[in-house]
Amino acid sequence: MSDIVFSSWGGQVVDNRSGQGVAAAATDIKVPLKYADNDVAAFMSWDGLVITDKNVNVVALADAYMREAAKLACGECSMGLRGTAIISDTLSRIAGGQGKAEDVALLTELADSIQKNVKCDFCANAVIPLRDALKNYREAFNTTAASKEAIPPLDYIKKMTAPCQEACPIHQDVPGYLELIRNRRNTEALEVIRRTNCLPRVTGRTCVAFCEKNCVRQDIDSPLSVRALKRVPADLGIIKPLPSVKGEKKGKVAIIGAGPAGLSAAQHLSLKGYQVYIFDEQAASGGMTFAGIPAYRLPRNVLAGEVDTIASQGVQIRLNTRIRHAEELRYTFKAVLVASGAHQTRESGIDNWNKDYDGLMEGVKFLHDINSGKTIVPKQKMLVVGGGNTAIDCARTALRLGFKESTVVYRRSRHEMPARDEEVKAAEEEGVKFQFLAVPVKIQSQNNRVVGAECIRMELGEPDASGRRKPLPLKGSEFVLPADMVLTAIGETPDFSFLPQGKVDVTSWNSIKTDEDGHTNIPWLFAAGDCTSGPASIVEAMAAGKRAAESLHIYMSKGKVERSEADALDRAFHEVGLSRKRRGPKPAATVRQYPHEMDAEDRSKSFDEVEECFNVQVAACEAERCLRCYRVMLIVKRQG
Ligand code: SF4
Repeated sequence: MSDIVFSSWGGQVVDNRSGQGVAAAATDIKVPLKYADNDVAAFMSWDGLVITDKNVNVVALADAYMREAAKLACGECSMGLRGTAIISDTLSRIAGGQGKAEDVALLTELADSIQKNVKCDFCANAVIPLRDALKNYREAFNTTAASKEAIPPLDYIKKMTAPCQEACPIHQDVPGYLELIRNRRNTEALEVIRRTNCLPRVTGRTCVAFCEKNCVRQDIDSPLSVRALKRVPADLGIIKPLPSVKGEKKGKVAIIGAGPAGLSAAQHLSLKGYQVYIFDEQAASGGMTFAGIPAYRLPRNVLAGEVDTIASQGVQIRLNTRIRHAEELRYTFKAVLVASGAHQTRESGIDNWNKDYDGLMEGVKFLHDINSGKTIVPKQKMLVVGGGNTAIDCARTALRLGFKESTVVYRRSRHEMPARDEEVKAAEEEGVKFQFLAVPVKIQSQNNRVVGAECIRMELGEPDASGRRKPLPLKGSEFVLPADMVLTAIGETPDFSFLPQGKVDVTSWNSIKTDEDGHTNIPWLFAAGDCTSGPASIVEAMAAGKRAAESLHIYMSKGKVERSEADALDRAFHEVGLSRKRRGPKPAATVRQYPHEMDAEDRSKSFDEVEECFNVQVAACEAERCLRCYRVMLIVKRQG
């Protein structure tokens, strides 16, 4: 464990330069002090600096840090742009042995002035660790400025990130592409997005947008409409080839499943030069994105276009191909990545649930049939059991098919619903009804036909393992909801009957067990997405696919699996956990722009896309609300 020599992290000064070292664990310093097998000698970022090796030259550290920070100053105010440039030039001069006696005072004055007077957060945050260094290592700065000898530059590793970027599972450079949208450079914005996102048009419509939940702007007025903004370059930008490894192709790898995890893994591996083959038993690519999301949220041609782009990079996609024994793929492929999703609906647990009854169906099958063009004749009353996005999609789809009434029955309250709030609101606007704190206990039937569901009221008890309050039945509260169709949308589980039985480790909740990087207990077998995590969001599946693909690449290159130094470093940076702490002046309040939607009455009769794309001008205006909350992080590795 490294000892702290000096830390100003979080405004709390720990100074052991003249005394006994304090073990890092004894302090509350949440910065990486180790990654992979490396000790960190120094860390400098928006909330201070931390030194664990007394030999680190703090002047060289400040010089390196401000050089990187100055590159990101945006020009929104000359104080930020010019001020950081002057600081960087002055530090370089001092480090190069050409300092002047008055330089240190100038640096102090400029850093103070930037912190108080700049327009946005980036520069105000960027100078914090410099001010700490100038205050606490004053003598080192004065001595170096007076000396005519250059100090050796530091070897350092840097990262630029932002709270929205860290919250995103695929770490999209959100401020980077928002700035390009603001300047109406949508093709370049699309290039930035596609570097880490193989489904920009899909995620521009359906992403759960973790970035918006961590957007700094929400502390001033409202978060940026990041998801809807992403759709603008995704729909309007010109797709250009991504940088890829040239030359002779590497080995053949197989991916089972053409959903978001499989497609993301395929793109990553194909760009690295592998011959990638995807196998999927369905007639169309997209996995749950195809099967489970209705066309009014994600038109079929949009998804097909995304898959075509991935295929055009050289990925071979074999549809209508069910793999019965994954081991047999080993005759042709050097490694296999399972991304087969979770498509089996859980047992309903409802009495008299008989699949042969007319009017009983699983929610995902209902959506899949409609998305595949099958005809479902509408009846009168639809009941959907569940509280997630699939339940809401089923209920909204039923109205579009022509059902007279569509009701969601959910065992907890609205507050606990896992479905996205905007989807629930849209369903309410379209006329979907809700029965909260209720659950069907028995199907009522006549002549093998569903006629209703006997339900019971629930109350919420203590929180269960999921952290949500456990629903408990209220004795004697039974009631009947008439229905001629009942769907269950209560979660899906994976099917992995095609894996070597008894040889692949599985979890107690019936998913494939892997390490954090998607490696199973079998050397050549990797897994990612819903088949490992259970049902999750598209963007989480894409992130898992990319991680497993990287792990597979290391296995193919080295014959064993180990975490790359770059990945270990990325995780170390991520552990810092960017707070939304602001230091710049409070910007004027602005009004968030939302994309226009079709009227509720019209849309409930049609499968046409509900949400429109922002036009370029409105998008530029919304992107202008971004505060560019970039933070620079800099690590110096301990030598020897
Ligand atoms: S204001 Fe912009 S940079 Fe800051 S968190 Fe929100 S989207 Fe990201």
